[in-house]
Amino acid sequence: MPYFDKRVYQYTRIIATLAVYIIGTILAIDSQAQKIVKKAIPDKLVVLTFDDAPASQYSIAAPLLKKYGFNATFFVCEFPNFKDSTKYMTWYQIQQLGLMGFEVANHTKTHPGVSHLSKDQFLKELKYIDDQCDSLKIGKTQTFAYPGYDLDAKTLVILQEQNFLFARAGGDRAYDPKTDHPYLIPSWAMNSENIESIHTAILQAKDGKIVVLTIHGVPDIEHPWVTTTPEVLDEHLKFLYDNHYKVVSLKDLAQYMNIENALSQIKPVFVKK
Ligand SMILES: [Zn+2]
Repeated sequence: MPYFDKRVYQYTRIIATLAVYIIGTILAIDSQAQKIVKKAIPDKLVVLTFDDAPASQYSIAAPLLKKYGFNATFFVCEFPNFKDSTKYMTWYQIQQLGLMGFEVANHTKTHPGVSHLSKDQFLKELKYIDDQCDSLKIGKTQTFAYPGYDLDAKTLVILQEQNFLFARAGGDRAYDPKTDHPYLIPSWAMNSENIESIHTAILQAKDGKIVVLTIHGVPDIEHPWVTTTPEVLDEHLKFLYDNHYKVVSLKDLAQYMNIENALSQIKPVFVKK
């Protein structure tokens, strides 16, 4: 072989080897990601979550959701005035939400900051809600929301031991299932005043990212600083409906995810911008 041809041959071999290596690496990274996301995340996927069991979630939010054909998650707890049915849903009403097809989920019994709880205390808080749900035949809760968005590393271990699928936090950013830990799902909190920022948030549901919203009472009598008027909720829901968004419960995201792989592969990051 002439000297020049030999060099060309050697270079070609080196380039081919490099190309195989690079393509192989890309495919490997891609299949890692596929192992976490088992079904492509569609654009315009939004999760609605309602916290704290105020009475208006049964009387106002649930009928509005039904009007648009949307699903949602209701994170229930028992605040001190829980027995006052003018302020909070009764367990019968919570059961009805479950029978209507909504997800009833765990927000602990007494709404404590979980970082201050021992393992036993946390388990008791979770079990109380599960026992109520069990006795009402709406099944063990499968998702969790941190009261007051208070996060704690040891909580993640307990949630996994208890076979939770997902846990919702705050953070004001979209959820990226490939990089966000399933027990640290970020969300935006809706209220009557932040119409524009919630609207901007909703538009971020694309390119593999999911938008999760936290909503309290509609209105919220005991916690007016997180209240959303029925008109504002309806305005957001109408926008989602008119623009063909898919609105689901948190548990519904399990169809897109290989949660075991996500739990083992994604490192929890507690402060993420
Ligand atoms: Zn709460």
